[in-house]
Amino acid sequence: MNIENQYGESVIPKAEWDSPMFNLAQQQFLGAAKLLGIDDNIRKRLLFPQRTQIASFPCRKDKYSEVETVFGYRVQHTLTMGPTKGGIRYHEDVNLGEVSALAMWMTWKCALMHLPFGGAKGGVRIDPKQMSRSELQRLTRRYTIEFVNMIGPDKDIPAPDMGTNAQVMAWIMDTYSQQVGHSVPQVVTGKPVVLGGSQGREQATGRGLVYLIKDAAFHIGIDLKNATAVIQGYGNVGKNTALFLEQAGVKVIAISDVSCGLYNESGLALSAIDDHLQENSTLQGYAGADQISNNELLELECDILAPCALQNQITSQNAPYLKCKMLAEGANGPTSLAADKILWERKIFVLPDILGNAGGVTASYFEWVQNTQEYAWSLEEVNSRLHKIMVEAFQRTLIRSQRDNVDMRTAALMEGISRVAEAKLLRGVFP
Ligand code: NAD
Repeated sequence: MNIENQYGESVIPKAEWDSPMFNLAQQQFLGAAKLLGIDDNIRKRLLFPQRTQIASFPCRKDKYSEVETVFGYRVQHTLTMGPTKGGIRYHEDVNLGEVSALAMWMTWKCALMHLPFGGAKGGVRIDPKQMSRSELQRLTRRYTIEFVNMIGPDKDIPAPDMGTNAQVMAWIMDTYSQQVGHSVPQVVTGKPVVLGGSQGREQATGRGLVYLIKDAAFHIGIDLKNATAVIQGYGNVGKNTALFLEQAGVKVIAISDVSCGLYNESGLALSAIDDHLQENSTLQGYAGADQISNNELLELECDILAPCALQNQITSQNAPYLKCKMLAEGANGPTSLAADKILWERKIFVLPDILGNAGGVTASYFEWVQNTQEYAWSLEEVNSRLHKIMVEAFQRTLIRSQRDNVDMRTAALMEGISRVAEAKLLRGVFP
């Protein structure tokens, strides 16, 4: 049985992938594919992930008698472009649809940046904040073993995403290496530098986003020295985005985490907030700013609004009330289809997720290249290569957006999708 999408086209039922986030990713793809006039066979091939694996497995708690059954996922969306690449997310809402959407976006992102990877993503449905370090280590090692035949330096290379970090990558690298009998640093990226991680990888997503914000600000006529920024999410991406914006002379007036938002119209003292966070692991209770909700934060008056937390934050409900000039997406999937239309009508300039947060996978690519060549680059070399790739992708997207009169998200998708479609046509159908 076939179903119809919003363009009145007949597509295969979504079945097991069905979720709001996967639906968003599919609809974005179908919209861009229609504008590109993509071959129908290829369109159908790209609408679903090529490989998915779900595992339920045990995680022994620190209290030895307690064993929790958890669900883990790994999805490889496209195997045409080279090995697949994508982060691993630990979050209590992770499901197959979410991981599949993230894997699809990784395909377009890598293609947009001209990286030799297809998209993948992984995840475990747990709340990492409720787990001890030793529980997290056992969980990570068991997850790695469950998916050990799927990942590999020439097959599929994980990296950090929400809820995971360099330490988690070190455990994955160690577990994989124990299995094959020798060290394989290139099986993951985002590792600690001492284990073969790249200089600058940890900061790269925020740094890359700020490279783009600088070019976008120039394009739309914002003087960063007199600009204000609001950032949702203060983890890896949000914190580094705040830091590099501050270094560029921007006044960061609000930030948030899952607990609350902090607002000070004269600018936040980021280093004092970092000290507070070090001690308390939450923004809650910081005295040097007004406490606001995450919803209030999104509607603050500012030049740059950077969602750097979760998906589905900018919707038809709040898009009419945003008071920013630029939406710089660090998070994946923060904006709904309906909100995109409103932002376009309201002339709010968007740095879309597959471009905005691509600094992370670009530096991950550098890490993989360095590991493969067994040669480490300096921070300066990483940053200058990152800058070049980010600004070139920005220019390609901007030119496409102006030429085809489409919004920046559609332009970025078209850049990525057309490259993958071309590669698929060239490789042909086996057998
Ligand atoms: P993280 O776990 O380091 O930080 C997430 C932050 O978001 C935390 O401050 C958390 O408290 C906050 N948060 C969680 N739920 C929230 C909510 N409901 N409201 C407000 N804040 C909330 O994660 P991260 O690595 O910074 O990833 C954030 C986003 O960026 C995700 O969408 C991820 O897919 C995307 N991303 C990350 C990378 C990377 O290199 N880490 C690369 C590309 C994209």
